[in-house]
Amino acid sequence: PTWSAVRAPARGRILQRIGQLIESNKDALVALVVREMGKTIKEATGEVQAAADMAFFNAGEGRRLYGVTTQSELVDRNAETRRVPLGVCALITPWNAPLSSIAWKAFPALVCGDTAVIKPSEDSPATADALMRLAQEAGVPPGVLNLVQGLGEEAGEALVRNPGIDLVSFTGSTEVGTHINQICAPRRIRVSLEMGGKNGVLVLSDANLDHAVNCVVSGAYSMAGQRCATTSRVIVHESLADEFTKRLVAKAAALKVGPGTQPDTMVCPIVNRSQLQRVAGYIEIAEREGARIACGGHVLEQGEYAKGCFFEPTILVDVRPEMRIAQEEIFGPVLSVMTCRDFEHGIELINGTNYGLTASVFTRDVSAAMRALERIHAGVVYVNAPTFGSEVHMPFGGYGLSGNGHREAGMGGIDMFSEWKTIYVDYSDQMQSTLLKDKK
Ligand code: NAD
Repeated sequence: PTWSAVRAPARGRILQRIGQLIESNKDALVALVVREMGKTIKEATGEVQAAADMAFFNAGEGRRLYGVTTQSELVDRNAETRRVPLGVCALITPWNAPLSSIAWKAFPALVCGDTAVIKPSEDSPATADALMRLAQEAGVPPGVLNLVQGLGEEAGEALVRNPGIDLVSFTGSTEVGTHINQICAPRRIRVSLEMGGKNGVLVLSDANLDHAVNCVVSGAYSMAGQRCATTSRVIVHESLADEFTKRLVAKAAALKVGPGTQPDTMVCPIVNRSQLQRVAGYIEIAEREGARIACGGHVLEQGEYAKGCFFEPTILVDVRPEMRIAQEEIFGPVLSVMTCRDFEHGIELINGTNYGLTASVFTRDVSAAMRALERIHAGVVYVNAPTFGSEVHMPFGGYGLSGNGHREAGMGGIDMFSEWKTIYVDYSDQMQSTLLKDKK
């Protein structure tokens, strides 16, 4: 009650300070993200800036929590809507974006007047702790933003099951998200799920080949493929397939794999041993199902690599759409190449999974691009660009197994973390005929 009574512009001012503190502590936060999660300095720098930008976006929303005013059917009657807070939010986040995935949830929640309990991934607890300290320094009052550390099945599940929780916002695997949804269903509380992806890129016959290759390499191997928006399937028109694959293999094989701390690293390590084994396991599955390794495919174990979890950037060819590697999220540096006969076949293949997070099409034909934008079944679609995340003022989320209809970022975050109240104020001092009677 105390926090929701603070006026939204004042809540926004605190978020402004959080954003400034994130920026002034950028180097330390970048170093922490790199050390804890393993991504490269460049990738971590982008993530930290995105967290600051999310604070600034929501700071502005503190002066813009607009509702609607409209004319009532009756005279002397005011009709309006207001955004109101939902209450206590459980925020459960993954390790791959240890700072920004919290910012995406906590900052809109705070500006909407909600309080929150954050349960970060057990693989990235320190980054969450650092953000909490900055929030405290910025003036978030005690008890408004809370942090619980622990394993998902223990701390996370206890939080989700707690009857004091009014909303669960989860980012992570489709498996855990679905489980959380089932736990919450009997209580009918709002649950937002940002889950996995099996993101595809469609390269049409008139595409700029070099540009497409560069974007696919960047989409597939940045953060070693440990992104929800990672490019994991590329569908190339058969007339380009040989040349495209040749250039793709040359680029992927030349990528420098190494620790995120080294400035020349292009592909970072895998987050932990079990994830490394999972990636390696998918290569075995691929070969059993008849796919062929065109590049990579192995755990790197020699020399310095033996001290960490490194996997070669991998390209699989002869992939058929029904194979598990073409259907399941791998979350590693593994790209499957498939070919299409024509536009229709390409659309069929790109839409041929149960996920629907991001997708991209490469073409110089504006008609083909517009038709692809209409037909591709994904929450975020790009033309002539890699499958990356979203900007902080644009909604982000996916269809099918990738989400449950909610959006994060932009106004999606404000919609997520607020409830509508419809209000009528009658100042006529007399009983007016009701709408029901009028209709009779
Ligand atoms: P995960 O599902 O294993 O864990 C996510 C979070 O849920 C962690 O904090 C974990 O501790 C917690 N958790 C696990 N079991 C739980 C339970 N029973 N009850 C409550 N909480 C529980 O996912 P991960 O390995 O940390 O992250 C990788 C996944 O996240 C990938 O599938 C990726 O696609 C997805 N992801 C999605 C987006 C998006 O915006 N759609 C963004 C980033 C990551």
